[in-house]
Amino acid sequence: MSTQTANNSRALANATQQPVGTQLVWILTAIVVALALPYLGNDYWVSIGTRAAIYWVLISGLNLVVGFAGQLAIGYVALLTIGAYTTSVLTAGKLFDPISVFFALPIAAVMGAVFGVIVGLPALRLRTFYFAMTTLGFATIVTQIALAWQSVTGGGIGIPGPEMPAPFDGNLGFYYLCLGFAAICTWLSTNVARSRFGSGLIAVRDAEVAAEACGISKSSLLIPIFILAGALAAVSGGLFAGLQTYITPDAFTFELSLLFFISILIGGRGSIYGPMIGTIILVILPEIAAPLAAWSTFLYAFLLLVIVLAMPGGIAVLLDFNNRRPLEKHRTVAPQTALLAALNQHQSVQQSLGLQNIVLSFGSVRAIDGVTLDVKPGKIHGLIGPNGSGKTTTLNVISGYYSPNQGTLTLGTESLPAGMPHVRASRGISRTFQTPRIVGEISVLENVMIGGATKGHANFLQALLAMPQERHERKALKERATALLQVVGLGALAHVRTDRLQHSELRFIEIARALMIAPDFLMLDEPAAGLSNDEIKKLGALIQAISACGTGVLLVEHHVDLIFEICDDVTVLNLGKILAAGTPDEIRAHKEVVNAYLGG
Ligand code: ADP
Ligand code: MG
Repeated sequence: MSTQTANNSRALANATQQPVGTQLVWILTAIVVALALPYLGNDYWVSIGTRAAIYWVLISGLNLVVGFAGQLAIGYVALLTIGAYTTSVLTAGKLFDPISVFFALPIAAVMGAVFGVIVGLPALRLRTFYFAMTTLGFATIVTQIALAWQSVTGGGIGIPGPEMPAPFDGNLGFYYLCLGFAAICTWLSTNVARSRFGSGLIAVRDAEVAAEACGISKSSLLIPIFILAGALAAVSGGLFAGLQTYITPDAFTFELSLLFFISILIGGRGSIYGPMIGTIILVILPEIAAPLAAWSTFLYAFLLLVIVLAMPGGIAVLLDFNNRRPLEKHRTVAPQTALLAALNQHQSVQQSLGLQNIVLSFGSVRAIDGVTLDVKPGKIHGLIGPNGSGKTTTLNVISGYYSPNQGTLTLGTESLPAGMPHVRASRGISRTFQTPRIVGEISVLENVMIGGATKGHANFLQALLAMPQERHERKALKERATALLQVVGLGALAHVRTDRLQHSELRFIEIARALMIAPDFLMLDEPAAGLSNDEIKKLGALIQAISACGTGVLLVEHHVDLIFEICDDVTVLNLGKILAAGTPDEIRAHKEVVNAYLGG
């Protein structure tokens, strides 16, 4: 038996190891091919390569907006236009004395960053399609201005693109220059993607509510991304103008915008190399199908349709070497609770989490009606009651999703501000959800790491440049998440994509994520729902171990056996009101509770 278990865990470990080698071979091959392209093909291929590299400069930034943050920014050609005109106007000396292209490009980047934020701001308020429309509208405005502002832009006649100084003036030199920019952009966007900013973006995209509970604020994440994407798009525009030699407003078509956007979609969300390959495909496609060039919009749409239907995850799925092998079917979670003490020690916590006389109505429904609770540090407080009695709503009030109509929330002697869910994690409060809120497309480990968002202090610039503080924090976060996965019994699945796991495992991932901040208070919303009896036992032991480390637990549950076995205090809700409160023994013997909820 034990040999079989050992074999199983070895098989699992094999299935989940990251084959770094394969990835490295691919990357090196791509670099060699890119460098050798001028010697493999003719000038024609060099110009295609140059175009792909220039587009990638824009797409690498846009990918963070579209693929990572899930924002439908379809009008990004506007920022390319702004960059192209800024660079050309400055090098041609239309406004001031002419300057070198290498001074003009950084100025274009600043312009792009400013407009990147202006175009992006509506995303903080508007939902997907409305935001998409505003980006499109902006693209139209920019083209119209370029047409109308004749004295500077040359209007419909246009303006010469920037001249490149030697050694970048020839085709070959310009190709290597653009390749260099593309390589730097790949590095920058990979750094962001790997940092807590990248995983935060994906969390906001796929599990916004959980992201907020982990302390991630959507606006402070998106704004640096819009700055970066805008700056890169404008630099791309400057290079694009260099490639065109002469630019007119009609060079900046909607088709181009579509190319950028679709490259990311066929590449796959949340991937860097997928959209890179997508870009190369979309640049080459109209070339090899020259008679079809006039049909390129149709071609892009068709390709998108084919890829979405045949491969919903995009090209990134082909590159996902980690998730090829099948997982073992009959897995059991095996929490190692003994490991927790070293990770979560709370001798210092003396205060309790209190609700005083909370009232919250939804229209005419009084979802909670005068609820008073006291969750003590290091104790387990059960919250039970029939469906619709206000348990989840109570947790949502504590989490700050709802502001109560009456009553106060306190943490020790301080009051806890109503609303503001994203400040709860920094106050030591974390939670899980009645329906697990997990990001399916990233690994289990990355999901758990999201829980530690508030532990990161490195700023965006440090993340962008992969500076030492960011790397140290990242390493610490990874180590803690790995250890916590072992605690909840999922260590072997750390590198597996999360949507391959079974429901009960998701509940344990959520607990591990909630433990990342070493919470003073942990709220669990029906963690035993959907678990087998054996798993419920393990869950009970895990919750006890968590409270033994000093964390106060507020446990909402329908499995009353579990409640009575592990809780120190129990509160019973009915129709939003407290029906009874006391020790498990008192509740078990409470007549009204037995009648209304437990059954005779
Ligand atoms: P429980 O978790 O105990 O099953 P809930 O707290 O989810 O119950 O719900 C309590 C009551 O509040 C129910 O009558 C429910 O329909 C209502 N309710 C909860 N959330 C909302 C909401 N966002 N809008 C309107 N009514 C709600
Ligand atoms: Mg509920």
